[in-house]
Order: sequence, then structure tokens, then C-alpha cells
Amino acid sequence: MTQKQNPVNLRIPGPTPVPPDILEAVGKPMVNHRGRPFAALVERITAHLKSFFITQQEVMVLSCSGTGGLEAAVVNVLSPGDKVLGVSIGSFGNRFGTIAEIYGADVTMLPYEWGQAAQADDVRKALKAEPDIRAVLVTHNETSTGVTNALAQIAEVVREADKLILVDAVSSLGAIPFEMDAWGLDVVVTGSQKGWMVPPGLAFVAMSERGWNAFESARMPRFYFDLGKHRESLTKGQTPFTPAMSVFFGLDVALARMAEEGLESIQTRHRRMGDMTRREIKALGLELFCEDERFASDTVTAVKAPDGIDVNALRNMMEDEHNTVLAGGQAKLSGKIFRIGHLGLVDESDIRLTMDGLAQSLEKLGFTRPSA
Ligand SMILES: *Cc1c(COP(=O)(O)O)cnc(C)c1O
Repeated sequence: MTQKQNPVNLRIPGPTPVPPDILEAVGKPMVNHRGRPFAALVERITAHLKSFFITQQEVMVLSCSGTGGLEAAVVNVLSPGDKVLGVSIGSFGNRFGTIAEIYGADVTMLPYEWGQAAQADDVRKALKAEPDIRAVLVTHNETSTGVTNALAQIAEVVREADKLILVDAVSSLGAIPFEMDAWGLDVVVTGSQKGWMVPPGLAFVAMSERGWNAFESARMPRFYFDLGKHRESLTKGQTPFTPAMSVFFGLDVALARMAEEGLESIQTRHRRMGDMTRREIKALGLELFCEDERFASDTVTAVKAPDGIDVNALRNMMEDEHNTVLAGGQAKLSGKIFRIGHLGLVDESDIRLTMDGLAQSLEKLGFTRPSA
């Protein structure tokens, strides 16, 4: 990944930088969203998306941010009163549980200390303890803490128990290893502004055969996010309602570019970015927030705020003096961590720039490395 003239080193975990050719595509004139050229574009997009989800199922493109996709996941397979297990290792895990609760599900949370990963064994125990549970909600990559769950293992436990598994893959899919069908995932959601190099505005959702069976009897209210309508429209290369066409134009170019780089190369690059970021952060004398590095995310790194350093002052200095934008901490982590996004359009030079800026900013703010 080279070609880019992004004026700002946008190192937040979404929205991620959009390369110039994709920005140009986003600016294209409107066409008829019920016409043949747009139908051909929709078909290209869905074919590519299926190859990234690694699924035989249709991938539906909804015009909303990732959270809309999570809402779609919940309302299309569940009914009010259904028992649901919400596995949460951070802010987005909590959000998924909240959506289910608001629509009337009976949600039991399986919460972890932020910074930790979920354990498949705990999920197994929780499902044994409450045999009536119908579905498990899980975040693949928890963007708020920089931790990636062992999704394949968790899914295996959910499959054994014969429950549905609904997956927030918003900040993982298209960047790190992910296999919808092979892992037996029932509803999978991701969002355009994370690993896909396009602006915010689209969520991609796919459902397994089991998911579609559950859809038939699911009674939570749904209209805009009714996936039955989306699946039906897709047979004509359309969406039920006017889609965010500009983002579709960009996505068409982005997916062609990703296909050209290849799934494996993309994943290897993200692995490299994750490794490099963690190595450099530790070399600066800083600490990772993720407690067990085996679960450290290859798309976003959370870093503990060093003693005596004001995170906002650091982030402002990075922005003003180094043209680099970092993310702060969410919810209870506000002021306690900062986060570096390394997904989508990113290579070594972006991380280098970030680390050089951090070294200079930290020094200027009076940070002294803790002596070993
Ligand atoms: C970004 C993100 C979302 C969705 O957020 P939106 O702002 O609605 O796009 C959901 N889950 C995770 C893990 C995310 O990183």
C-alpha cells in the first residue's frame, strides 16, 4: 500500500484514511439507483464482500454506520423476551448488549476487566448455567481496549451448545483473519470506515442458514433494517431504500484494490503493523493496555497513559506539531489510555511518523522513561 497523499496522519481506529482514487470515486455524479449500471456495481460489491467474509451467504449493504448493522443483527433473529448472553470486553461489547436489551431481550452479560480477552471456557459455563439462552453476542476486535477475542474458539463453544452467535466484526473484518462459514458464525457485521478504506456510511451484514431460519420467527420490530427486504432487493442488484450511493462508488474501487492486494497480503500487513506498533511503543518505555499480548489487536493499539502525562495534551501536541491524530480512551478509559489505529490504508511509514512524533512529544512534555 503506497499511493497516498493524505494530508493528515489519521491514526484513529475509524474513520480511517481514504486514498485519493477512492475519494475521487466518492465524488462521482449520481446515477439511477434502480438502473443497470448501479445494479452491476452492487453485484460486483457483494461478490467481493463474500470473498472477504469467506461465506456462501449474501452480504447485504445497509446505509448506516456500524452500530446500525449491530441493531440489524439483533432485530432480525431475536424476539422480545429471548434470553441472550452478551460477552463484553469493553465499550462495544456493552453497546451490543444494550441494543438487545432495548429491543426487549433478556440479556445476561459476561463482562471482563477491560484490557482482557474473553475465554471460550467461560462462555461454555455461562451457556450451561442458563440453558434457555438463544443467542450469544460477541465482539471480535474490541476497539475500545485494543484486544482481539479468540473468535474461532468462542464460536466452537456456541456451536456445540447449538445457540446463535452474533458477531461485531466492525474493526476486524477485511484486516485480520476471519472466516464466517468455517467458524460457524450466524450474523456478522462490519462497517465501511474501518478496514475498508472508504468513508463512514455503510454497514455490511451477512446471515447463516441458521440465522435466516431464526429470521422467520423473530418478532422484534424492524422496518429499515429488515434483512428480508434487503435480500429480496439484492436479487435485482438493488437496495430497498435509496442507498448512500457515493460510498458505494468508493467501495467498488476499494474492494477491487483490496482484491488486488489479496486477502493474505492484507492480513500479513496488518500483523506487521500490529507487531511494529507494539514493539515501538515498548521501546519508547510505554506500556500496552492489553494484558496478554497474545490477544493484542493488529488493527488498534491501546497504550497506557504514562504517569504525569496528560493524554489530551499529548494528543493535541501530536496533532499540532506532528500532523498525527491519535484517539483517546472511551468511557471509563478516558484520560487513562490513548489509541493508535493501524487498519485499512496503513504501512510502515505511517507508524514510523507516529512513533517519531510520540518520542518528541513525550520528551517535550517531560516524560522520563521508567528505569528498568
Ligand atoms: C466502530 C465500531 C462500531 C460501530 O461504530 P459506528 O460509529 O456506529 O460505525 C462497532 N463496533 C466496533 C468494535 C467498532 O470498532
